[in-house]
Amino acid sequence: MPDFSLVIPIYNESSVLPELVRRSVSALEALDISFEIIFVDDGSSDDSWEQLLRYRGQDKRIKILSLSRNFGHQAAIFAGIAHARGELTGIIDGDLQDPPEILGDFIRKIHEGYDVVYAVRKTRKEGIVKKLIYKAYYRILKKMSNIYIPMDSGDFCVMRRMVAEYIVSRPEQSLFIRGIRSWLGFRQIGFEYDRDKRFAGEPKYTFRKLMLLAFNGIFSFSRFPVKFISVLGMLVIFFSLIYIAITLVKKYYFGDVPQGFTTLIIFISLFSGVQLLSLGLIGEYIHRIYDETRQRPIYIIREKKLDD
Ligand code: UDP
Ligand code: MG
Repeated sequence: MPDFSLVIPIYNESSVLPELVRRSVSALEALDISFEIIFVDDGSSDDSWEQLLRYRGQDKRIKILSLSRNFGHQAAIFAGIAHARGELTGIIDGDLQDPPEILGDFIRKIHEGYDVVYAVRKTRKEGIVKKLIYKAYYRILKKMSNIYIPMDSGDFCVMRRMVAEYIVSRPEQSLFIRGIRSWLGFRQIGFEYDRDKRFAGEPKYTFRKLMLLAFNGIFSFSRFPVKFISVLGMLVIFFSLIYIAITLVKKYYFGDVPQGFTTLIIFISLFSGVQLLSLGLIGEYIHRIYDETRQRPIYIIREKKLDD
C-alpha cells in the first residue's frame, strides 16, 4: 500500500500531460513518501491514453484507467478514488490549475490531526464574468444548502482513507463530490491557494456541464427549491386574501365593481396560491422519497472504542 494516491481526471489533455506528469511526479518525489498517481482517462478522443500508456511503461507508480466513454469530471474522480489504495488520497485537476507542489502542505495538515484538507481558492485567474458567477454561485449554495459547503472550494483535496472509502460507498447519480465530502463531516480544514491558469488547451467543462454540476450542488444538498414553492404559495394566498377583502369592500360599500369581477379575483388569485402550495406539498413528499432512495447513512462514526 502506498502512503499516498493522487487521482487525476483526464479528458483530452494531450497538450498538458507531459508537464502534468513531470510536475506531479517531482512534487511527490520531493515529499519522501511512497505514492501512486492514478490517471483516469474519461473517454478522451485525442492521444491522452496513448501518452498515459507510455508514462506507465516508464514508471509503475503511474496507474491508469480508461472509462468506456466520457462520463464527466465527477464520475472520473469517483472512479479514481475507488481504485486508490493509499493511506491518503488526493484529487487534483489535470490542467495544472491546482499546483501539485502544495500537496505537501496538505499532507502536513493531515498529520496535524485533520481528516480532510481541501483547497480554497483565494484568487482565480479566469475571466471576470466567470469569476463573478463562481463567487455568486458558492454564496447562493451556502445560503440554500442544509449542510456546510465551504466557499470557493473545488475537489482539490487530500483525505484519509476512511473518508475516501465513505465517498465511494455512496454512489449517487448526480455526483457533487465536494458536497458529499463536506457532508460526511470528520475533521476538515480549508487551505487557501492561488488558482493558476490552465496550463494549455481549452477548458473541458462546457457551459452545459458546468450548469449541470451547479444544479447537482443545489438539488443534492438543499430543500430550498421545494420550500420556495410552498412559501410562494402561502404569500400568494396571503396577498390574495387582502385583495379579496379590498374588492369585497369596494363592491358592497361603493358598488363600483363590474359584475363578475369579484368572483374572478377570488378564483384566480386565491386558487393560484392554493395550487402553488399544493405543488409545494407534493414536492416535499417527492423530496422525502428522493432522500430515502439515496440511502445516505444516518450517522457516521469517526472512531470507536467499545471493548471492555
Ligand atoms: N474533465 C474530465 N471529464 C470531463 C471534463 C473535464 O475528466 O468531461 C477533466 C479535465 O481533463 C480536467 C478537469 O476535469 O483535468 C477539470 O476540467 P477543466 O479544467 O476543463 O474544468 P474548469 O477548470 O474549466 O472548471
Ligand atoms: Mg480547469
